[in-house]
Amino acid sequence: MNDTLQNWLGEQIQGLKEQNLYKPIMVMDSPSGPRITVNGRANVINLSSNNYLGLANHPKLKEAAIKAVQEWGAGAGAVRPIIGTMRIHIELERRLAEFKHVGATLVFQSGFTANAGVIPTITEGEDAIITDELNHASIIDGVRLSKAARKIYKHCDMTSLEEALKETKGAKKRLIITDGVFSMDGDVAPLGDIVALAEKHDAAIMVDDAHGSGVLGGGRGTAYHQGVHDKIDVQLGTLSKAVGVMGGYIAGSAELIDWLTQRARPFLFSTGHPPATAAATIAAIDLMESDLSLTERLWENTRYWKAGLQRLGFDTGISTTPITPVMVGDEGRAQELQRGLFAEGVLALAIVFPTVAKGKARVRTMSSAMHSRQDLDDALTAFEKVGKSLGLI
Ligand SMILES: *Cc1c(COP(=O)(O)O)cnc(C)c1O
Repeated sequence: MNDTLQNWLGEQIQGLKEQNLYKPIMVMDSPSGPRITVNGRANVINLSSNNYLGLANHPKLKEAAIKAVQEWGAGAGAVRPIIGTMRIHIELERRLAEFKHVGATLVFQSGFTANAGVIPTITEGEDAIITDELNHASIIDGVRLSKAARKIYKHCDMTSLEEALKETKGAKKRLIITDGVFSMDGDVAPLGDIVALAEKHDAAIMVDDAHGSGVLGGGRGTAYHQGVHDKIDVQLGTLSKAVGVMGGYIAGSAELIDWLTQRARPFLFSTGHPPATAAATIAAIDLMESDLSLTERLWENTRYWKAGLQRLGFDTGISTTPITPVMVGDEGRAQELQRGLFAEGVLALAIVFPTVAKGKARVRTMSSAMHSRQDLDDALTAFEKVGKSLGLI
């Protein structure tokens, strides 16, 4: 082993530990669910997973995955454009396009790779990308892979967006990129206003709807929820969060998808999903289409959970979605809140700088369709106890 590299690694890790930025990985000894066994502790109420609809451990998805293993095997055998595309991958893409009411879709290994796949593939050196300052890390990395000029606009600020559009007037094509639901605050992009500005200034729009997929618009996402899905050029959805499995997809016109199959590098050069992943995802779409009670329960629990925290006196920020931050401010106190909650049997993770701005530390919570009233009431009791002991309420 190379000493120079090993010494550098040691210093980096030490540096993180000294700044309190080192995060040990927590380990579950149970499936993802409303109550989990984590770090050896059983029956912990889980408020930190993105398993919004409880599909990750749903019997219908498990059954579909097992059946697909028996029918199709464990792996796809090659990258999709060589000989790794099975009928079940195509079936999933057809079902997703129907579900989203779009021309076509293309599935990538993850939401992260979908961003890395689409952004540099539809923009070139003479283009400009105009991107919200709070967009997800995978958008930022996708933008870095593009040769286009970039302009960052203030979070959901339409004046700032219009300025950026004016400043990039000389570009050949313009692409505005925004999260649908922002993952740290739970607020939603004003897509109607963005569409109006894009039409006025001849720009295309891409919405990364990772946290809107399966959550808003009956599961069809933020654009559908706001009635503008036919005005969004590129929608990105994830299959890894509410949908409960793994993957990301691009939804848009047939021409967009056709181009991506020819040029998107993660599609061309990295193997596609095991057939079981595609099959479980199809089962998830079946459920979302046939059983509206899943999203209804998610939203009922979301309202109950937010109201409960607010009644106790917590500041839940500007969220209008299941992502519910409990604003703390100070980094150390947010971490104390996380530790205190865990001691009371509740998992809710602190989010601190650099994920959010300094002084905006919070504990981020997400209720889901799978939580019972008892789960939420027990969690509120813990929040009350720890919140009082830290002087937050
Ligand atoms: C989680 C997330 C992704 C990544 O999705 P994965 O399927 O987990 O790779 C992309 N964009 C946003 C906005 C996300 O929140």
